[in-house]
Amino acid sequence: MAEELLRNLYRIEIPLPGSPLGWVNSYVIKDPERNLIIDTGLNRKECLDAMLGGLAEIGVDLKQTDFYITHLHADHFALAQSLSDVTTTVYMNGPDKAFIENWQGWEPIAEFLVLNGFPRDEIDSAINSHPAQKYGSWQMPMMSAVEDGDIIRCGGYDLMAVATPGHTRGHTCLYERVNKLLFSGDHILIDITPNIGCSVEGTNPLELYLASLDKVFGMQVDLVLPGHRRLLRDCNSRIEELRQHHRRRLEEVLSILEYGPQNAYEAASRMTWDIDCSSWEAFPVSQKWFATGEAVAHLRYLEESGRVVRDEHAGCRVYSIT
Ligand SMILES: [Zn+2]
Repeated sequence: MAEELLRNLYRIEIPLPGSPLGWVNSYVIKDPERNLIIDTGLNRKECLDAMLGGLAEIGVDLKQTDFYITHLHADHFALAQSLSDVTTTVYMNGPDKAFIENWQGWEPIAEFLVLNGFPRDEIDSAINSHPAQKYGSWQMPMMSAVEDGDIIRCGGYDLMAVATPGHTRGHTCLYERVNKLLFSGDHILIDITPNIGCSVEGTNPLELYLASLDKVFGMQVDLVLPGHRRLLRDCNSRIEELRQHHRRRLEEVLSILEYGPQNAYEAASRMTWDIDCSSWEAFPVSQKWFATGEAVAHLRYLEESGRVVRDEHAGCRVYSIT
């Protein structure tokens, strides 16, 4: 079902069955020349049906429609493949576009997680249950790179790209100055906290994410249109909650390391998670995968701030308090 939010601007709810995220908010902007769809859904039937149903309701012709994807994750990007053809422009930020175009398979990520304590014998099932593996897109559309500050004009709106790395390396929101709208992708969500994970060497995603929160904190925003869940109005209060969440998380990780040196997987097993499972052992393997990545992100941040040190023993990376 399509909901009209403002003139020429609609929201279509795209279901994500079985995902704690619930659904994707797909925003459609109608324009006599070219319509624009911001984020799409997974490459699966439930998503496609909801999208086509919503577009039919508001009379949007896919042949006159382009896409803006806030970041590379399959729940935002994958359905664009089924909806686009050679005449379609699919806008994507540079770093995420490069990551997709240089994709080397799961192996480098799997090796990195094993180095951080993830059990090697659970890697295959973790990959096979990953949403990008099950419902990703394997025929990439041509993508047009978007840089910080670029403007996309559509439906009477000037949409400015605002680079907000952290959730992914290139995550980029769209900002509309007149109505003070922020299409926030997975940078700012309400009811759930965006996953900040680290699955590659040499990066510090949490530092990037906190800096991106600071960047948006200084902007005039009256309505946040996120990639999942409810829309929200008080952007700055939510940013402050997200900052506090990560401050608490960092303290929690430090207190866990007081029990002794640990790898990220062990630390993740002791962190508190907002998930309906009685124990770490009962976590679905895909959630253990995301949790380990999130533990690495917090450990990396603490390491860069000089509060923990990293060692390597027998092919496994271990952290301890300085
Ligand atoms: Zn995401």
